[in-house]
Amino acid sequence: MASLRLPPLPTIGEIIKLYNLRAQKQLSQNFLLDLRLTDKIIRQAGNLRNACVCEVGPGPGGLTRSILNAGAADVLVVEKDSRFIPGLQLLSEAAPGRVRIVHGDVLAFGMSSAFPAHLARNWDDEPPDLHIIGNLPFSVSTPLIIKWLEEMADRTGPFVYGRTRLTLTFQKEVAERLTAGTGSRQRSRLSIMAQYLSTVHNCFTIPGRAFIPKPDVDVGVVHFTPLPQPHIQQPFKLVEKVVKNVFQFRRKHCHKGLEMLFPEAHRLRMTEQLLRRADVDPTLRPADLAISQFRALADAYSRLCRENPSLFSYDFRDELRQKHQSHRRIKRGRC
Ligand code: SAM
Repeated sequence: MASLRLPPLPTIGEIIKLYNLRAQKQLSQNFLLDLRLTDKIIRQAGNLRNACVCEVGPGPGGLTRSILNAGAADVLVVEKDSRFIPGLQLLSEAAPGRVRIVHGDVLAFGMSSAFPAHLARNWDDEPPDLHIIGNLPFSVSTPLIIKWLEEMADRTGPFVYGRTRLTLTFQKEVAERLTAGTGSRQRSRLSIMAQYLSTVHNCFTIPGRAFIPKPDVDVGVVHFTPLPQPHIQQPFKLVEKVVKNVFQFRRKHCHKGLEMLFPEAHRLRMTEQLLRRADVDPTLRPADLAISQFRALADAYSRLCRENPSLFSYDFRDELRQKHQSHRRIKRGRC
């Protein structure tokens, strides 16, 4: 292990001063300077000795140092802000052959061919020796996790290698939503989408004051391990549509949101049919539905879509828009 530790380097604080790396608000830059804290985050990922890691948003490289000190063999860092590249190059020289630097946007970065093919495991086997780690910019963390959850469902992107594990930071509230159980106040669309596909663990909370500059919120470290068998065996987009509809009226009974899956003319009849087939009580609130009930709803909705081929493309917002437009035309005609 000793040979894998980094040689003495300027501290992260010194790197920030040396390269004049003032945090930019529009890139949600809040840095971690305390290496004991970055070590603690890295420990949540599991054993990184000889592992491959993709780190998103390395910035001045605090987490990167902890990843390297944990013995990772191949660390691919994806950083959008060019100001950080020289500091990352310094790190790369201190760990020869172990750091690859990509200057680019993680949202556009294709991960499916970024690592050697021999890493790949069958989906049902143990997870591959590949980890995604990041103290993510808040502004991209939610779209990014939704993108990765969809790729998890489709086994594309970083999941072409098998059940790649993710260790990521989120705004505390988002971390709580991702991991909220049935009946919890934080239970939301994100809870179902994450938990039907993976085991999600809210590891610990980092107080905002641990970051430079201090963000307005605290931060949660969340670990995801994709499930060998997702709890819902339907296409991601179909699950997303059902879940989104259920949660659009989160304080009302669940039938209210589900009704909007169906054209107005058949709304009540089809909602009743859906709930009967799924054996779900229409008066349950969205937050009180278990993942097994979402599975039953998605299965029943999928069956209805097979019986009514135009149903899946139905969006109640289109119907509302059309109604609005024809009202306006009638009004204009009268004037
Ligand atoms: N990992 C460092 C740390 O813990 O100190 C920096 C964290 S800072 C919250 C987020 C980092 O992500 C910044 O370095 C920022 O430039 C970078 N970043 C922001 N948007 C990005 C994107 N779309 N793709 C890649 N990096 C991005």
